Amino acid sequence: MNILQAAQALLPELSRWRQHLHQHPEPSFEEWETQRYLLTQLKRFPELRIRRVAQTGLIADLITVPAGPWIALRADMDALPITEQPERPYRSLREGYMHACGHDAHMAILLGTIQLLYERRGEWQGAVRFIFQPGEEKSPGGASLLVQEGILSEVPIQAIWGLHVTPQLPVGTVGLRAGAFMAASDEVYIRLRGAGGHAAYPHLTADPIAVGASLLTQLQMLVSRAADPRSPTVLTFGRFCGGTAPNVIPTEVEIAGTLRTFDESWRRHAKSLLVTLVQNVSQTWNLTAEVDFRPGYPVLHNDPTITEKTRLWLTELLGAAQVQEMPLWLSSEDFAFYSQQVPACFIRLGTAGKNPDTHRPVHTPDFDIDESALPIGVAALATVAIQGLRAFAVPPR
Ligand SMILES: [Zn+2]
Ligand SMILES: [Zn+2]
Repeated sequence: MNILQAAQALLPELSRWRQHLHQHPEPSFEEWETQRYLLTQLKRFPELRIRRVAQTGLIADLITVPAGPWIALRADMDALPITEQPERPYRSLREGYMHACGHDAHMAILLGTIQLLYERRGEWQGAVRFIFQPGEEKSPGGASLLVQEGILSEVPIQAIWGLHVTPQLPVGTVGLRAGAFMAASDEVYIRLRGAGGHAAYPHLTADPIAVGASLLTQLQMLVSRAADPRSPTVLTFGRFCGGTAPNVIPTEVEIAGTLRTFDESWRRHAKSLLVTLVQNVSQTWNLTAEVDFRPGYPVLHNDPTITEKTRLWLTELLGAAQVQEMPLWLSSEDFAFYSQQVPACFIRLGTAGKNPDTHRPVHTPDFDIDESALPIGVAALATVAIQGLRAFAVPPR
């Protein structure tokens, strides 16, 4: 049996794990039941070295040759505060919470990958670190906590892979992109304060609404004039609050937005330009400005060498037509923190099938996956682990 057939034989178990996890969603950093369930499943593999990390996360190491190379595979664990809409046999049993980003599938796939690599442990040499990571959906991101705990540095991890369900790709396919892949995402909160007054006497006030409105248009110059047009930038303000009546100039407005970038040095420069512009314009118009720039996840960078190798291995596994080139992705993902530490490759797993719900975007209340993608995910991760360990093995002298 080849890896794909072996993974396909696991489908009933993969589906059972995924549906159990789907029915018991937990929010970011509260994945206690999820952790307990995973521990129960992992008991079947006595040779795994398991420990808890970041409270609700788990690390499981499977070592066949202690002196051999190490690689890591990661699944995220958290659900979202969304009420699942459709009636399904495996609908969420926890009202108000739902695995609407497919992290239930990621965990089931990693469990299946552990089983497959465990059964085939005579076929590979080295060590695989399986990471069940909490809190992907919530700042500062569980990945940043795990990096701080040293999970990629305490042992010599040579590369890390993760995957994400993708309703934009048909089931049976995977998507890859070398280099910058997913955006850095930061939030900015601006508060402008000054003298308010009667709307008929603007010259006696420092109108924060007029200045705020002008500021929003000037800030778009960051995108049109300061950003390298070859590196996409998005600056969106989703909140502008101030004032109470048409004939009163208020003393304060609040503006909040998000900045998406694909280059870490431009990201830092954009922040400083934004803060300077807000301060200068406010000062000109006798307003005081507070700017709170809250860093989110960095750019997710797929290591070009590892990604090209992954493309070759997955092409061999699935066929060339099943391995697609992905566009830049404007959403962000905390796997990016790992990609700053070691060579990384984030794989997009096609999950769109016949059921229209499997075409719904992630983070929507009717989102679902086609479960025949689960064995594809297992086969993909098992393949990159086995091939990766082979590639990193030190050749005998
Ligand atoms: Zn998500
Ligand atoms: Zn997700």
